[in-house]
Amino acid sequence: MKKVLVIAEVRDGQLRNVSLEALAAAGTLAAGGEVVAALLGPDTGKHAEALGHHGAGTVYVADHADLAQYTPDAYAQTIKQLIEFVNPDAVVLGHTAIGRDVAPRVAARLGLGLISDVTGLEDGPVFVRPIYAGKAFQKRRFQDGKIMVTIRPNNIAAGSADTAKTATVVPFEAEIKDLRSIVREVVRKTSGKVDLSEAKVIIAGGRGVKSAEGFQPLNELAEVLGAAVGASRGACDADYCDYSMQIGQTGKVVTPDLYIACGISGAIQHLAGMSNSKVIVAINKDPEAPIFQVADYGIVGDLFEVVPLLTAEFKKV
Ligand code: FAD
Repeated sequence: MKKVLVIAEVRDGQLRNVSLEALAAAGTLAAGGEVVAALLGPDTGKHAEALGHHGAGTVYVADHADLAQYTPDAYAQTIKQLIEFVNPDAVVLGHTAIGRDVAPRVAARLGLGLISDVTGLEDGPVFVRPIYAGKAFQKRRFQDGKIMVTIRPNNIAAGSADTAKTATVVPFEAEIKDLRSIVREVVRKTSGKVDLSEAKVIIAGGRGVKSAEGFQPLNELAEVLGAAVGASRGACDADYCDYSMQIGQTGKVVTPDLYIACGISGAIQHLAGMSNSKVIVAINKDPEAPIFQVADYGIVGDLFEVVPLLTAEFKKV
């Protein structure tokens, strides 16, 4: 491909790691062609340097007040205009809440092909994506035309930064009009310090934690490991924690390096959100619990005994 455009994402002032992974994917797709990136929103231009270090030759910065918070209209209009201006062969976004929402809108408006939730790239290019709640993988390719791709966080490794590489920064004047919605306030529900969808380590609690206070040992282990804390829907439904922590078919899909499931039975709907984790550890007092079928390591025992022991051991490291 001659040119690949990455739509980078900034959250709470931080460049999301999936944007660097998208640049790595773009580099593979471009195969020696040009990789460019775009930053949307006020004060996002400061991240152009990092994008340059990871392979973007040009970074377009749409520093527009209407892009300060995500709204489908403002983002779709801006990305559509960027694609018309930059004229890339492919556009890559993270398969995040924003990417999932905006990519189909833009693809439909411009009549582009879209392959979503990609977890791997093969020669061709062939795009690999999980289907049937992660039970099988589908391989897809485009026949012709411009394409859009969203990549699942934590699956395609970001390249290492090369500080000798720099990007040319180009301001981009987006024309945003007729907004049907504006964001007045953002109220965050996630409790942890680490973003669940990009976390390398996740400690998840299920109905086995028995109460909101039952999450405390999990929080302590997470603190020691620098992990995010997630939950099964069972725990959310029982009001032990907020739904923003839910992992699974109707919650977040995660692919951490390490997933520690505590007091989670392993229902198919939960597995849909975490079974592609690289290493799965299950702690459950029922040796027949289905979670052990997907676990790399299983600990049969009471989580209120096992988790504090793990915390104490990891503290020593
Ligand atoms: P349970 O199934 O009750 O399991 C609790 C486990 O804790 C048991 O295995 C028990 O042995 C163990 N345990 C109890 N005490 C201890 C202890 N002291 N120490 C160690 N282990 C202990 N679920 C999701 O998670 N995510 C989803 O996105 C999701 N989407 C759904 C969508 C639909 C349409 C439907 C129908 C269901 C969905 N569910 C989802 C619900 C799912 O089917 C299960 O009901 C849910 O995952 C069960 O949660 P759980 O494993 O925490 O609870």
